[in-house]
Amino acid sequence: MSKLVVKTLREAPADAEAISHQLLVRAGYIRRLASGVYSFLPLGLRVLRKVEAIVREEFDAVGAQELFLPALHPVEIWQETNRINTMDDVLMKVEVRGADFVLGPTHEEAVIATVSPDLASYRDLPATVYQIQTKFRAEARPRFGLLRTREFIMADAYSFDADKEGMRTTYKTIFDAYCAIFDRIGVDYFPVEADAGSIGGDVNHEFMVPAAIGEDHFAYCKACGYAANIEAAVRGERRTESSGAVEVLRKVETPNSPTIKAVVDFLNSHGHVASAENSLKSMIAIGPNGAYHLLLVPGDRKVRIPSSLRAAEASDFDANPNLHLGYIGPVGLREVGVTIWVDRSVSEEIGYCTGANEVGYHLLDVVLGRDFIADHVADLVEVVGGDPCPRCEGDIELVRSVEAGHTFQLGLTYSNKIKSARFSGEDGSEAPYFMGCYGIGISRIPAVVAEVSHDANGLIWPLELSPFEVVVVALGYSTNDLVTDTADRIYDSLLEEDVDVLLDDRNLAAGVKLKDADLIGVSYQIVVGARGVAEGNVEVKDRQSGEATVVAISEVGEYLLDLLA
Ligand SMILES: [Zn+2]
Repeated sequence: MSKLVVKTLREAPADAEAISHQLLVRAGYIRRLASGVYSFLPLGLRVLRKVEAIVREEFDAVGAQELFLPALHPVEIWQETNRINTMDDVLMKVEVRGADFVLGPTHEEAVIATVSPDLASYRDLPATVYQIQTKFRAEARPRFGLLRTREFIMADAYSFDADKEGMRTTYKTIFDAYCAIFDRIGVDYFPVEADAGSIGGDVNHEFMVPAAIGEDHFAYCKACGYAANIEAAVRGERRTESSGAVEVLRKVETPNSPTIKAVVDFLNSHGHVASAENSLKSMIAIGPNGAYHLLLVPGDRKVRIPSSLRAAEASDFDANPNLHLGYIGPVGLREVGVTIWVDRSVSEEIGYCTGANEVGYHLLDVVLGRDFIADHVADLVEVVGGDPCPRCEGDIELVRSVEAGHTFQLGLTYSNKIKSARFSGEDGSEAPYFMGCYGIGISRIPAVVAEVSHDANGLIWPLELSPFEVVVVALGYSTNDLVTDTADRIYDSLLEEDVDVLLDDRNLAAGVKLKDADLIGVSYQIVVGARGVAEGNVEVKDRQSGEATVVAISEVGEYLLDLLA
């Protein structure tokens, strides 16, 4: 260890908000070169290599073939899919002697350009290829050390099938390989159903690891295991109690009450009984052809806009004289060409308060089916903790988490845009590939693990990722001959057994060396101290459990091999 390029630090860097960032810098795993750009020092690289080895083993085991694509892409392939425009905010572009290039944040274009000549016939399919590659993203605000960077390493896989059935089978195979990878990485993870967007079906997954630093939430049901991200999660039905007889529709004056809260307060202080859940929130959204849509959800819920629509902007309101911001409601709007959507929870037995489509007025006891009809009934609210699970009787909770990987059925999304993404079928006709893509954030994994596996003293690596399996901490190395001798002998014998072992031979105080061993977080420590060796013993400490066991020097090799087996 005296020769290892590592200097541990007592203090975390001032900009380190995330515990993983603090610990990985303090323990000498990574060092910042620029905002969102990190070097991996020897200890960090060892962890990275172990993550890569797990990914390679599991991908190779399911027949995925490793290749290596360039990071530098000619701009033309990004123009063909138009992602040069749609991903403009994250693409890093470079000009080389007058030619334009993109530094790849993902490789769908590059992989199709590369392998399509080899996958020209149905006989060449299915095929799955993968690479472990450095990627670039023009992140506006890099943060949290390795969790949000501008340069990162990913293992990305791409599958090519002749039809949808084949794509689904391949997807399942890679999905299972992902589970095997995360099992070995040794963190709790949840394959969360992700928003399918324009692709359809609930067949895309994000691999989420619950962590306090996470900026994403997913909906989770403990009872049945249902897990979906916020964009995709739906809630089950819970019977709403009817509040008794519904009265006739009537209009009331509600001056200066353009929000749900304002109108509820106003009504309650003017002799009415009103609540947010018995009001309908009205949101205007715009369809792809410019048509107006009204989304109605209970007043205490957040609207989730269907992916086919976008939120209306000020200019959209200006362009439609029927819309009075703050006083919009369903009654009469369908008649002027607005499509009406209601959330699934809106009841035909409740008289709701809604805007009257007239500034300063609301309607009371508006009833779905009686006073207005809906064109679409859909899931239009964001789920919250306590909502009923859509699959069982349980309740949904929201779990804060970080994304460690994703698996995606692309279908024909890219094949339809890229001319070369075609093969000839059995009858000679040309057909596009059914594709899947799959990504694991290799350089993110050490940070994800550090987030969930540490204590007050430092990092705690799962054995499969630990930079070394064992560290021999020699207290008094080079000042006490018996300690030096014993430590050297244990180190050499473990090396001979192919154990991944580090010897702390630094001439430092015992306290410093013990603290460093905990900070660095190697799975097992063999502490060689003067008193112990005089009695023929050393101490073996399990970093995970903190348990220390006194073991005879003559038996320590065998003891360790049992632990590592
Ligand atoms: Zn459930």
